[in-house]
Amino acid sequence: MLSDPYAWLEQSLATIHQADWYRSVQTLHGRSGAIVQLDGREVINFASNDYLGLTGDERLIQAAIAATKEYGTGSTGSRLLTGHRQLHQQLERAIASLKQTEDALVFSSGYLANIGTIAALVGKRDLILADQYNHSSLKNGAILSGSVIVNYAHSDIEDLKIQLTQHRQHHRRCLIVTDSVFSMDGDLCPLPEIVAIAEHFSCMVLVDEAHATGVLGANGAGCVEHFGCTGQTLIQVGTLSKALGSLGGYVAGSSVLIDFLRNRAPSWIYTTGLSPADTAAALEAVQIVQQEPERRAKVNNNVDTLKHLMQRLPQLKLLPSESPILCVKQASATDALTTGEKLKAAGIFAPAIRPPTVPTSRIRISVMATHELSHLHQLVLALEAIAQHKSRLYF
Ligand SMILES: *Cc1c(COP(=O)(O)O)cnc(C)c1O
Repeated sequence: MLSDPYAWLEQSLATIHQADWYRSVQTLHGRSGAIVQLDGREVINFASNDYLGLTGDERLIQAAIAATKEYGTGSTGSRLLTGHRQLHQQLERAIASLKQTEDALVFSSGYLANIGTIAALVGKRDLILADQYNHSSLKNGAILSGSVIVNYAHSDIEDLKIQLTQHRQHHRRCLIVTDSVFSMDGDLCPLPEIVAIAEHFSCMVLVDEAHATGVLGANGAGCVEHFGCTGQTLIQVGTLSKALGSLGGYVAGSSVLIDFLRNRAPSWIYTTGLSPADTAAALEAVQIVQQEPERRAKVNNNVDTLKHLMQRLPQLKLLPSESPILCVKQASATDALTTGEKLKAAGIFAPAIRPPTVPTSRIRISVMATHELSHLHQLVLALEAIAQHKSRLYF
C-alpha cells in the first residue's frame, strides 16, 4: 500500500494549531476606514495600513473609475509587451519626483519589487547583509538571489561592522538590505549610520520604505527624507498599497539602476503590468501626499496622543516606535490571542501578531490620520480594562 502523499498536510496543520500559530482570514465589509464592519458589527480599525485614509478617498476612487473606463480593467500583458500605458510612466515620474531620484519603476506589488530587485542586483558571488527583522519579501528576495546571506542583529551598527569586516573581502558585490520602518515593530533603521558604513565597505544599500512613504519626512518621501539622506545613491523600494491606498510596488533610484532593472528583474519583466485602476489611484495618491501635508501631520499627531494616553498605563509594555505602528507586548502567543479577542469584543480591531512572524507576541496597533480622538480613547480604555482583569487574576 502506498501512503497518501498529502497526509502530512493535516499533521502539519495540527502542529500549527497546537502551538497557537494557526491563522485564518476575517471578512471586513464595506468601504475601509477608521470604522469597519467585522463579524456583523462596527469596530474601530487599528489594523489597517491605510495611514492617510486614502483608500476611501473620493479622488482616488474617481481616478480608478476614469482609468478603467479609458483603458479597461486589465493591462493585458507585461510592461515590455502590451502592458505599458502612459499612466505607468506618469506614476513612475511622480514617484521619482516624490523621492527626488532620477527615475522609478512600478511593480505589481511591493513583494515583487523586493524579490525582483534583490535577485537582479546580487548573485552567487555576492554578499547580502540583512537586518534580522527584515520583511519576508526582503528575506525571500535574498534567498532567491543565491547570494551568501549574513544577518546582523536588529539595527545593530556594531554587529553590521563586525560582519562586514569578517565577510566583505570574500565577495564581489555587497548589498545591505533593511526595512526603514520595521513592519512588525514600528521602529526605524539607523539609516545615516548604515549609509556611512556602506560607503566605507563599498556596499550598495536597499531600503524598504513600505511603511514610511507618505508618512515620514517633510514631504512624505519616507525615512530617507526623514533622516536627511535624500540624494544619496540608495535603492529605495516600497509599496503603493499602504499610505498610498492602492496596489503595487516600486523601486526608486538612479536612471542606470532603473534601466538595469527593466532588463534584469524577472518579477517585473515576466508579470502583467499594474492595472489601469491601481495605477491611476496610486498616481492620485502621490499627488495628494505632496499637496496635503496636513494628513501626515494628523497621523503623527494621533500617534503622539496615543503614546501620551498609554504612558498613563505602566502595565502596558509598548515596544520602541517612531512611526504609526505601535506594539503592546504580550507574554505569549495565547495571551496575544486572548487580548486580541477581548479587544474585538470591546469593539476594537487590533491584531495579535505571533511567531513565526515575530520573535515575541504582541498586539499591533496601526494609527491612521482618520482616527478621531474618541477612537484613541476607546482603545486605551479597552487595553486598560483587559490589563486590570489580568493583574486581578495574578494577585
Ligand atoms: C507590505 C510590505 C511589503 C509588501 O508590499 P505589498 O505591496 O503589499 O506586496 C514589503 N515590505 C514591507 C516592509 C512591507 O511592510
